Amino acid sequence: RQALTSVWGTDFGVHSPAWISRFTDMARQAAAYRAGRVLLAGDAAHVHYPVGGQGLNLGVQDAVNLGWKLASVVKGTSPDSLLDTYHAERHPVAARVLRDTIAQVALLRANDYVKTLGEILTELLTMEEPRRRFAAMMSGLGIHYDLGEGHPLLGRRMPDLDLQTADGPTRVFTLLHSARPVLLNLGEPGFDITAWADRVQLIDARYAGKWELPELGAVTAPGAVLIRPDGYVAWVGDLTDPDLPFALATWFGTGTPKSKTP
Ligand SMILES: Cc1cc2nc3c(=O)[nH]c(=O)nc-3n(C[C@H](O)[C@H](O)[C@H](O)COP(=O)(O)OP(=O)(O)OC[C@H]3O[C@@H](n4cnc5c(N)ncnc54)[C@H](O)[C@@H]3O)c2cc1C
Repeated sequence: RQALTSVWGTDFGVHSPAWISRFTDMARQAAAYRAGRVLLAGDAAHVHYPVGGQGLNLGVQDAVNLGWKLASVVKGTSPDSLLDTYHAERHPVAARVLRDTIAQVALLRANDYVKTLGEILTELLTMEEPRRRFAAMMSGLGIHYDLGEGHPLLGRRMPDLDLQTADGPTRVFTLLHSARPVLLNLGEPGFDITAWADRVQLIDARYAGKWELPELGAVTAPGAVLIRPDGYVAWVGDLTDPDLPFALATWFGTGTPKSKTP
């Protein structure tokens, strides 16, 4: 109460606090999210002013990105180097949020220059393209992990499509409930991933709707996609693509050789 009075001239009548904390407009990020067996996630890895409401979202997505990788390395299915992809993917995402938050904090300053800048930004946001980009940024749906060149879905969050399968209708996110990767084949059946059958679900399905991604809009329909347990797309191709075994091995460990018939 003394602190409130010294800063604001009143204690606002506060009493019986159940919890007290503090925050500032500092924007800080750990240089590395991993040092050997130590991994940083959430506010331990990045802090910023709460404007924009991104902090908790970032932390939860850090955990979701890291969780399945840790499990795979601990079980000995994947090499230790899989954990390095955690920093490679998540560090740039938080760096971008810190940058956006710093800009928003600057816009909160009360002077005529900033007010004018805010008006120009408001004008920009009446236009379709900037509005779509900002919406993707603020919702976190525009996140794109750099997994190389290819279909726009590669490195992006798989949309929660309505699917038709031999077992009836389902949705993509329902398939991810078991936290196991999914090879979703939307073309003719014929994939053989027996060597990864203990880890990866193969689902043959049909999807009749539109293909639209946040920020990008319409994209071409993929033949098949390999979806990681965190919902991000690790490979896009079809039955003729020879890269699928490499993608499977990169993300989910080397395949188990088929046992020979005695
Ligand atoms: C005013 C405000 C509004 C916010 N609004 C939003 C919002 O709208 N949307 C959003 O996404 N985010 C928001 N955030 C951010 C969000 O609250 C944080 O990003 C989030 O709580 C961080 O979670 P965390 O688990 O990483 O860290 P924390 O919540 O800080 O949890 C860390 C825990 O570790 C404990 N701890 C620390 N040291 C030790 C130790 N040595 N041993 C054992 N335990 C320890 C602490 O007591 C704490 O319980 C807001 C933040 C503030 C301050």
